[in-house]
Amino acid sequence: MAMIRFENVTKRYRGTRRPALSGVDFEVDPGEFVFLVGASGSGKSTCLRLILREEVPSAGRVAVLGRDLRSLANRKVPYFRRHIGSVFQDFRLLPSKTVYQNVAFSLQVIGSSRGFIQQAVPEALALVGLDGKEKRMPHELSGGEQQRVAIARAIVNRPKILLADEPTGNLDPATSVGIMQLLTRINAGGTTVVMATHEAGFVDQMQRRVIELQDGEMVRDETGGGYGDTSNIPRLAPEAVRGAAAAAALTAVQEVHRQTTAMPVIEPETAPANDAGTDRQDAERAESPEAAPATASEPASATAAAAGDRPGADEPATVGPRTSQIPLPEVEVAELGVADRLGLSDDDDEEVGPTS
Ligand code: ADP
Repeated sequence: MAMIRFENVTKRYRGTRRPALSGVDFEVDPGEFVFLVGASGSGKSTCLRLILREEVPSAGRVAVLGRDLRSLANRKVPYFRRHIGSVFQDFRLLPSKTVYQNVAFSLQVIGSSRGFIQQAVPEALALVGLDGKEKRMPHELSGGEQQRVAIARAIVNRPKILLADEPTGNLDPATSVGIMQLLTRINAGGTTVVMATHEAGFVDQMQRRVIELQDGEMVRDETGGGYGDTSNIPRLAPEAVRGAAAAAALTAVQEVHRQTTAMPVIEPETAPANDAGTDRQDAERAESPEAAPATASEPASATAAAAGDRPGADEPATVGPRTSQIPLPEVEVAELGVADRLGLSDDDDEEVGPTS
């Protein structure tokens, strides 16, 4: 079963002449890492919004996790979205809540048990390399750290799919490397990742699948591709800086690959039919993964320093002499879900809760 399937999808927004997407056709398999590239306005965010069912196609069909989103009842949408984590360019943290509370909140609004929250939140924060910063407020964090909180929030309920819309768009190249490593790691744990980006350097270096949009049309779908023609992309940093960051990214990402080759990829199943029952299961879930926190204190190589947000301080060292396995918790598919966007939308709040 495809994780995500677009069948000849056309999307016209009301009051616009040109369709935002026309005749887009692709399928994303479980465990894939897909870059969605294209100039601003080419339709990348529209694709992500269709996957989340924030928008519906004007023509064609979108199916996610085996569900035709056309026939998904409105009241089921919040449950459906628990299986999809999202991160954005602007982080979208709750400014008056601590790091811990930001991540916990998304579980609270879906009615997870206190026991589950107390276990899952520290695990998620350790995974993104933020243990020890639970009590910080968002404004006390660097941009890279804020994005890590957002990623922790997106994955705390173990989604099957992680959508990232320009997640490095507000970050400097060195900090972005750490975020790319993290997304690679999450993908290595079996989560399907779709990332919309302008970052040609990362796309070129990572050699993952690339779907390119141009004025709403899919002009390329390439396995292990690069960004393509970058002459129209504005550059925020000098070529040399970007080149160095991209090289560091490649080294780091290759290292993650090396460490994760032995890791089992989780085969997703059809989403459970009984949403309410699943929620209870979710809440009562108690696993004890050996979620070793990222090892920021270990000696960092030159590459790790280059890759660091604040070199040697904040970034989990995924390069250098570390030998432990990737600290991704074992994921049981039936228990996957996400609450990332919950609490950010009033509609959702009405729908969620242990008894709804
Ligand atoms: P990208 O993410 O690649 O920048 P978008 O998906 O945001 O592209 O936009 C694709 C096209 O759809 C653009 O022409 C944009 O102006 C238009 N568009 C996006 N959202 C809306 C909306 N809510 N209403 C009308 N037009 C929109």
